[in-house]
Amino acid sequence: MDAALQERLSFEMQLRGALARNELSLAFQPLVDTRDNRIASVEALLRWHHPQLGLVAPERVIPAAERSGLIGPIGDWVLREACLVAATWPDDVSVSVNVSALQFSRRTLIRHVEDALRVSGIRPSRLEIEVTESALLANNDLTMSILKELRRIGARISLDDFGTGYSSIGYLRDFAFDRIKIDRSFVRDVGIGPNGTAIMKAVIGLGRSLGISTIAEGVETSAQLDFVRGEGCCEVQGFIFSPPVPASSITRTLARRTLVARSIDDGIGRSLAS
Ligand code: C2E
Ligand code: MG
Ligand code: MG
Repeated sequence: MDAALQERLSFEMQLRGALARNELSLAFQPLVDTRDNRIASVEALLRWHHPQLGLVAPERVIPAAERSGLIGPIGDWVLREACLVAATWPDDVSVSVNVSALQFSRRTLIRHVEDALRVSGIRPSRLEIEVTESALLANNDLTMSILKELRRIGARISLDDFGTGYSSIGYLRDFAFDRIKIDRSFVRDVGIGPNGTAIMKAVIGLGRSLGISTIAEGVETSAQLDFVRGEGCCEVQGFIFSPPVPASSITRTLARRTLVARSIDDGIGRSLAS
C-alpha cells in the first residue's frame, strides 16, 4: 500500500511540473454530420507526454489532477488552448472541451471561459462545454447555476457519456442541453442481442422528441454507422472517421472538410493518438 501511495504522490508531483515543462498537449477528434460526412465540430482531448512513461491517457491524468488540486490550472489551460486552436479553423467549426466535476465546484470557471473566449476571439457559440453526470451529481445547484451562466455567455452545453450514470434522463428535465453524446458502450452493443439496438433507438428517439441533437460516440464499424444514421442520429464521433490527432493534422483535415468512413477492421492505427 505504501509503495502504491508513493507512486501516486510521485505521479502527482510530476504532473505539477508538466504544464510548465510543456508536456501537456491537446489531441483533436472530429465529430461528423451523418447526412454528408462533413466535420461539424472537433473535441479537444488532453494528452500528457511523460518523459519516462510516454503518452499518458486522460483517464489517468484527470483523476490525478483532481486529487492534487491541479485540475484548476490544467482545466484552464485546456479551455484556452482549445479556443486558441479553434480560432485558426473555419468559422463554422466548433470546439468541444471536457470540463470535470471539480471545475464545476467553483464559479471561477465562468471567468475562465470568458477569458478563453476573449483571448481567442472565437464566437461563444463555437465553444461547446461537455459535462458528465458526475459533475451534475456532485454539486447539483451550483453546477446548474454555472451551466445557466455559461449558456447566457453563449456557449453550448452537451451531456457527455449519456446513459452511463444512474439518472441521466432526470438531467434532461433539469437543464436544456444542446446535445446528448451517447456513450460508446451503447454503440458497441448495437446488433449484439435485442437490448443494445433497442436502447440506441430509444435514446436517439428521445433526443429527437426533445429537440436535442444526438451524437453517437465510439463508432468503429460500417454496421454501427449505418444503424445510427438510419435511426436519425445527428453526428458521429469515432475511429471509423478519425482517431484523435494532433492540432496540425486536424487543420489539414479541416481543409478537406469531408471525411471518408473506414471501418476499423480496415486496419487504421487506433492507439491513443498524440
Ligand atoms: P470522452 O470525453 O467521452 O472522449 C471520447 C473518448 O473516446 C476519447 O478517449 C477518444 O479517444 C475515445 N474514442 C473516440 N472514438 C472512439 C472509438 O471509435 N473507439 C474507441 N474505443 N474509443 C474512441 P480519451 O482521449 O482517452 O479520453 C478519455 C476521457 O478522458 C474523455 O472521454 C474525457 O472524459 C476525459 N478527458 C479527456 N480530455 C479531458 C480534459 O481536457 N478535461 C477533462 N476533464 N476530461 C478529459
Ligand atoms: Mg467528451
Ligand atoms: Mg464521452
